[in-house]
Amino acid sequence: MRTPIIAGNWKMNNTQKEAKALVEELRPLVEGAQCEVVLCVPFTALSAVKKAVRGSGIKVGAQNVHWAEKGAFTGEISADMLKELKTDYVIIGHSERRQYFGETDESVNKRTAAALSRKLKAIVCVGETLEEREAGRTESVLLTQVAEGLKGFKSREFNSIVLAYEPVWAIGTGKTATAGDANATIAFIRKTVAKKFSPAIADKLRIQYGGSMNAGNAAELMSMPEIDGGLIGGASLKAADFSKVVAAGNKG
Ligand code: PEP
Repeated sequence: MRTPIIAGNWKMNNTQKEAKALVEELRPLVEGAQCEVVLCVPFTALSAVKKAVRGSGIKVGAQNVHWAEKGAFTGEISADMLKELKTDYVIIGHSERRQYFGETDESVNKRTAAALSRKLKAIVCVGETLEEREAGRTESVLLTQVAEGLKGFKSREFNSIVLAYEPVWAIGTGKTATAGDANATIAFIRKTVAKKFSPAIADKLRIQYGGSMNAGNAAELMSMPEIDGGLIGGASLKAADFSKVVAAGNKG
């Protein structure tokens, strides 16, 4: 059985003070959650959030990590730095990173390797743009992102990897893939992982859906057999909304 994982992606939102207030509001609302709950917060809020979630079971994630151990990479953060703050997860290859900051499957692969080498868990994002979808290229795009992004990882390393399928056209737009479409595409991703890596890895790998998932549509999405959780942007910024998505994640 794959334990569902609901992760909030706060993006570039919340100062330390705001972060602390949001976690304080959220904690009682998600108490006793049976799914894994993760908050992926700005680097500057990691310490404050780690402290605020203490004793709650909520895990804390960052939103990026560099592949080098240290050095002349202005503005970047290393896996050791995240580990020092007891960060549990890190999002890698989010479409906003790919779109605005030139992330490629190769850099995703290197960043993921760095995260795993320091025992951080990685949430690796894949997804097609609207243009790619309309050109009928969704499957070929996903195949390349999965094969190249996860190239070279060993079976046991996949225990520390979660995939997030996020159709780019659904992120922050209010447009969600239908539950049936999201399920079918995630089934395709799982089949790809089985072919490129192994059926056993594919069977265990958790694959989230992300893209305008919210309190209103989470239950339907989470009722789908292939969908093992959600990566939630906008709706993770309000405790009441996010807690409803977490409630939908308490399946199985
Ligand atoms: C995201 O940032 O990963 C995301 C899915 O955003 P939103 O939920 O706002 O579409």
